[in-house]
Amino acid sequence: MSQYHRQHTDLFRSSVVLPSLQYKVVDTLRTFGPHSRTDLARRLGYSRALMTGIVKELIERAILVEGKDAESTGGRRARLLNFNPDFGYVLGVDLGATSVDMTLADFREQCLARFHEPLDVRLGPEAVLNRILEIAQNTLDKHHIPNDKLLSIGIGVPGPVDFANGILIVPPIMPGWERYPIRRKIQAHFPETTVVVDNDVNVMAMGELRTGAGQNVENFIFVKVGTGIGAGIVVHHQIYRGSNGCAGDIGHIQVDRNGPVCHCGNVGCIEAMASGAAMARQAQQAAMNHESAILRRYFDSGIESLTAEQVSAAAHEGDPVALKIIQTSGTLIGEVLAGIVNFFNPSLILIGGGVTKSGTQFLAAIRRGVLSRSLPLSTQHLRIDYSSMGDDAGITGAIALAAEHIFVPEP
Ligand SMILES: [Zn+2]
Repeated sequence: MSQYHRQHTDLFRSSVVLPSLQYKVVDTLRTFGPHSRTDLARRLGYSRALMTGIVKELIERAILVEGKDAESTGGRRARLLNFNPDFGYVLGVDLGATSVDMTLADFREQCLARFHEPLDVRLGPEAVLNRILEIAQNTLDKHHIPNDKLLSIGIGVPGPVDFANGILIVPPIMPGWERYPIRRKIQAHFPETTVVVDNDVNVMAMGELRTGAGQNVENFIFVKVGTGIGAGIVVHHQIYRGSNGCAGDIGHIQVDRNGPVCHCGNVGCIEAMASGAAMARQAQQAAMNHESAILRRYFDSGIESLTAEQVSAAAHEGDPVALKIIQTSGTLIGEVLAGIVNFFNPSLILIGGGVTKSGTQFLAAIRRGVLSRSLPLSTQHLRIDYSSMGDDAGITGAIALAAEHIFVPEP
């Protein structure tokens, strides 16, 4: 995150500035969990004497606690260092296309309260963000937390984000949100709170990194296959956002020069050919052409258009056309991922998003696609799996995103 610091101080306007050695200790505990002084000194390459001094200052500032207070699950080791849960609070917001999830957590990222309600992003940024602010304020009031104790808010949104500025860029499913200053709007209500906005895929990757299958995995990719296709990239236990914050937007990699037109204006993008929306469109075509009796039956039941869920339902019923659509999508995604594997050499690829409900055939096709096109050395230790966190990845990740930006190192 430090690469953004000098260029974009606005993001860190309300962050607490820490001397860089203190910051490194805090960052290490966030990433790897409680440590003893000795283990911290070893991991960071500091002398024990230096570490003792740094830790003393962090304890005096009430940022860290040690010994019994640091244990979350019984006393295995007595002298572990951990965050002081009462130092402050964070909010995680997971905004989907049609609903919002919010979690209040303590400084140790432990959930104190959780909230869910339907909320349509098409209502526009003013209405949606006003409602989010209302829920946030009610939640704080209910827990008797003064606003200045709310250190940070992490928000995941379903569209491409200019991370440094906290605004959405050409969000296809969010008309009216283009370049809307989300961070400024939230900060007008919570001026002392750091506000971090990121796209939902990075936030889900963050959730996997903190408590899911990505824990302790140095380099991995989280791929969301839903209405669209996108990826969150983790390098050295950190989200990699690239120069402008839009790294991982793999949905518009071309897989067929003669393929269908994508909503981005190009032709044959993977998103136009293998996303949930693309699968639904292919199924619709098959139903209209009477190629599948099962899909035709769904279509004739009075619905306007078929969905990706119906494609998987048809496959579960044994429909060969639906199964073929799922397998072809999986193979195409696998082939795109093969290129990324050769380039980036991750040790784990996690697949999340609605289309994972298609069952094991989709995952098997992705694996085949990757293996058939990757170099043997790059797949030697590569694991490809479905995410097991489901909807929790987004909200856990939003909390982690918030927590990660509470502090900023002294320049
Ligand atoms: Zn495209």
